[in-house]
Amino acid sequence: MKEDIVEKFKRYVQVNSESGNEKEFADILKKELEILGLKVVQDQLTEAHHSNTSNIIATLEGDGEDSIFLCAHMDTVKPGLNIEPYEKDGNIYSKGETILGADDKAGIAVIMHTLEKVIQDEIPYRRIEVVFTVHEEGSLYGSKALDYSLIQSKKGLVLDSSGEVGGIVIKAPSKEKISAEVIGKSSHAGIAPEKGINAISVASEAISKMRLSNVDRETTANIGTMNGGDATNIVPDNVNVTGEVRSFKDKNRGKQIDHMKECIDDSIIKHKAQGKVTTEILYRGYEISEKDPFVREIIKAGEKAGIKMFTRDSKGGSDANVFNGHGIKTANLVIGTQNAHTMDEYIAIDSLIDCSKIIYNLLSIHKES
Ligand SMILES: [Zn+2]
Repeated sequence: MKEDIVEKFKRYVQVNSESGNEKEFADILKKELEILGLKVVQDQLTEAHHSNTSNIIATLEGDGEDSIFLCAHMDTVKPGLNIEPYEKDGNIYSKGETILGADDKAGIAVIMHTLEKVIQDEIPYRRIEVVFTVHEEGSLYGSKALDYSLIQSKKGLVLDSSGEVGGIVIKAPSKEKISAEVIGKSSHAGIAPEKGINAISVASEAISKMRLSNVDRETTANIGTMNGGDATNIVPDNVNVTGEVRSFKDKNRGKQIDHMKECIDDSIIKHKAQGKVTTEILYRGYEISEKDPFVREIIKAGEKAGIKMFTRDSKGGSDANVFNGHGIKTANLVIGTQNAHTMDEYIAIDSLIDCSKIIYNLLSIHKES
């Protein structure tokens, strides 16, 4: 008998694929995609992939010209080794001391199951490109390193959002990292503290002046780490501080970064310390109109399956940010993972089934009514 979506999902989560070590899982998926009749390639593995394997791009020529891509990531967060899934009350949980890995193997199971069904049902379908990325968690390395010349679709879906199924993420913020190194002057803390410049104090004063947390309706800011000093009896001459700013508006993000820089510079000058601030945009934000024809198509596909569809934003980044940054219109579909990145992670079986129905309808070609 054919493997159902639950069996498939459970089988996938039992294959170890913590970020950077996706090869075993990638090899299994490649084989299964080939058996289904897709043309499978991997992009050239580079250091930028931060993995022992590279991204998978698989193509199924369809019955129409219209091409769509579906993407999910192959890696999981830690602790993600030797996961034992089990079912209870219509949900799937992990047994023991691991995550479940529904983020994002639910997305992969939905894609693989739906492909199988579309092919077996012999319905007319669009040209389909499947992209399975490596090392998404944390830094979106796989989608950033992806060889985009291997993709033709101008629109697609990432299946990697948590929450209530039916949700379509059409708006997500950009994110910029800020790092500061403050250099003071060391001195004996008991004999001559006045001769030192305490780098930790300089940085702390700067941070205390910063507007952080919910900065405005579009923007959040955080100082996340502070590392410095050697011993209690030495005035510390060095501290490193890192933080981030997220915003739906580039202008607001820039303004907040400037403000944080200014706080650090002012404190450095005031205390005659030295230092430098560096910033890096980690990913770009995106916004697709809810009236966009592609968004309407996704809504229609879900409604046809009796699912209540709605658009929303997300405060997090995903592969969809990177695809949109490359000019490919990409929304992020909610697949229904709950408590992702924790050992309490679970997913409802109905979420897997409903998502598969949305994708099935989206892939099939039907006459406009
Ligand atoms: Zn994810």
